[in-house]
Amino acid sequence: MSRIISAALDDLNAEQRAAVEHGLEPLLVIAGAGSGKTKTLSCRVAHLVAQGADPSRILLLTFSRRAASEMIARIGNVMAGDVRIPWAGTFHAIGARLLRELAPVIGIDPEFTIHDRSDSADLMGMVRQELGVATGAKRFPMKGTCLAIYSRVVNADESVADALAAAFPWCREWEAELKRLFAAYVEAKQKQNVLDYDDLLWLWAEAMNEPALAREVGARFDHVLVDEYQDTNKLQARILLAMKPDGQGVTVVGDDAQSIYSFRAADVRNILEFPKAYARETRLVTLEQNYRSTVPILEASNAVIDLAQERFTKNLRTTRSGGGAPKLVSVRDEVAQASYVAECVLEARERGVALTQQAVLFRAADFSAPVELELAKRDIPFVKFGGLKFLEAAHVKDFLAILRWAQNGGDRIAGFRTLQLVPGVGPAKAARILDAMDETGAYGVVRNTAPPAGAGEAWDTLKGMLDDLRGATWPGDLELAARWYGPLMNERYEDARVRTGDVEQLQRIGSTFGSRTSFLTELTLDPPNSTSDESGPAHKDDDYLILSTIHSAKGQEWKNVFVLNVVDGCMPSDLGAGSTAELEEERRLLYVAMTRAKDELHLITPQRFYHTQQGKGGDKHVYAIRSRFVPTNILPKFEQMAWAPGEGVDGVQDRGPLPKIDLAARARGRFS
Ligand code: ATP
Ligand code: MG
Repeated sequence: MSRIISAALDDLNAEQRAAVEHGLEPLLVIAGAGSGKTKTLSCRVAHLVAQGADPSRILLLTFSRRAASEMIARIGNVMAGDVRIPWAGTFHAIGARLLRELAPVIGIDPEFTIHDRSDSADLMGMVRQELGVATGAKRFPMKGTCLAIYSRVVNADESVADALAAAFPWCREWEAELKRLFAAYVEAKQKQNVLDYDDLLWLWAEAMNEPALAREVGARFDHVLVDEYQDTNKLQARILLAMKPDGQGVTVVGDDAQSIYSFRAADVRNILEFPKAYARETRLVTLEQNYRSTVPILEASNAVIDLAQERFTKNLRTTRSGGGAPKLVSVRDEVAQASYVAECVLEARERGVALTQQAVLFRAADFSAPVELELAKRDIPFVKFGGLKFLEAAHVKDFLAILRWAQNGGDRIAGFRTLQLVPGVGPAKAARILDAMDETGAYGVVRNTAPPAGAGEAWDTLKGMLDDLRGATWPGDLELAARWYGPLMNERYEDARVRTGDVEQLQRIGSTFGSRTSFLTELTLDPPNSTSDESGPAHKDDDYLILSTIHSAKGQEWKNVFVLNVVDGCMPSDLGAGSTAELEEERRLLYVAMTRAKDELHLITPQRFYHTQQGKGGDKHVYAIRSRFVPTNILPKFEQMAWAPGEGVDGVQDRGPLPKIDLAARARGRFS
């Protein structure tokens, strides 16, 4: 083993080291936040490679593409050189890649395109309309809900009836209609040669039901390692077991106290039942030392999670002494909350804490709006993760739809979108054009259709572009699509200039991928949060604050962390306060948020917040009380304070003593 590796291993504690050096029997590392699970996993990969394992025979499954590249970078650091781990990524991305390879033997076309959740919901809506399911029924679930039910059925490996009973009891009356709808949805996807996110896991899992295929795929990898295993679902556990029935070379790490994805059918039982799942006996390693947070932060986090009804991992200890108690800050409203965050952030920057070392976390993406406004006002740069993604912007979707349709003429959602970019073509017209579609694909259907009224030259240029795209090589396609779309975008959007910048950015991102297929696949599966997420900030030394949903903050850490809206109705969200299980998941979310902090933690409780009813109207201000997850008996773990704008925070805005005035005397004087 190289000296460099052994030096890196010297940093590890005995348990971490045991996990790193463990042999081939199935290995489960289960431990709390910040105990070095991800670090241990990276060191294990480095150790394996140093001992001669072939990096191309290692499968590394992570929660996001970013997490995969961070881990590969860590592995490179330990080995003091670049390491390529070609099979590293999310379950979905790896699934897409394997399915393209396996396509000829599993009866699918390898040229499939992938629908993101909003495309899938659109297709669900389209199918419902064509089928006439429950037409006019006002209470029938919306297309997004239909998709969520379908997704639950697939990912939890359940019947429609069970999924409805477990998670959508208010939709139970529609079981028969939903079954018909789902059957037609599946048929539509197959006809169009598109896969949705759920297909990527389901097809992979089904393929692995065939022993010969499972053996073939399993034999490609000597090691399979999974981070954040607590957030995998039934299909993912099935895939793992089928590839490696004896568990040889399988390592999973996770923390049951951080399981926060059950709304996507993640099942914490996967990690708890892992030791029983495999033919060979599992080695269990628990880690008890936290290296991330100071004592007071860890104690407060432990106090919050101690109130959970069920938990497997033990409390952690830390040696990171010093630092004050986490702050529990009461402010008047969300506007005051925003100024508090801005002032603290600036004050910390004065002290030398870079903005990228500070994060603002929130339960729901729209909670950050007032903070975003405040940051913009004060010229504090930030990047937001989670919530509305860059790819959800209309112009970005347009641009990708053009490429997707060129790739797969059968992709109706992509065609529908592209056609409607042409002036004079609305939904009905676009649908009629698509109905005439035959095997000549996108180009054929456009060529054979008379130019719609009002289309002008956009129709001819569309024809030309689709023709050119047939012969284009990557990344030339990007240029062709941008050239056609540019003028249409200028007419469509008032802020076309900003959007043009985004399209140019997409072209730059695209040119870093090897092919149109890999670009479209990767971008659809793990969309960048903003253009800067994918390509890094414009300048290397740019400093920016992190805004993130708690879900997207998984696995990460920052010196200073601010958690917004720690009040009932927001945390727990009133959407999640239904069943005990949902409530427990909300508690774990707060725990995940708190344990992201290394040095400073602020939980903020506005006394009122703006309550949006998700499309139901009736938005209003409501008065709020401190989250029930911070009950009175654990308050001593916090420093409680009230803050109002103008007060400043320590060190930043010393405005001196306020002038003394005697209003009582003035009131008396008014009439004397
Ligand atoms: P989470 O549950 O939040 O994903 P984790 O268990 O994966 O956390 P890591 O992110 O791997 O924890 O590690 C947390 C921090 O502790 C990192 O900064 C890491 O470098 C540091 N760390 C882990 N182990 C050690 C160690 N033995 N010595 C020093 N620092 C360590
Ligand atoms: Mg981790």
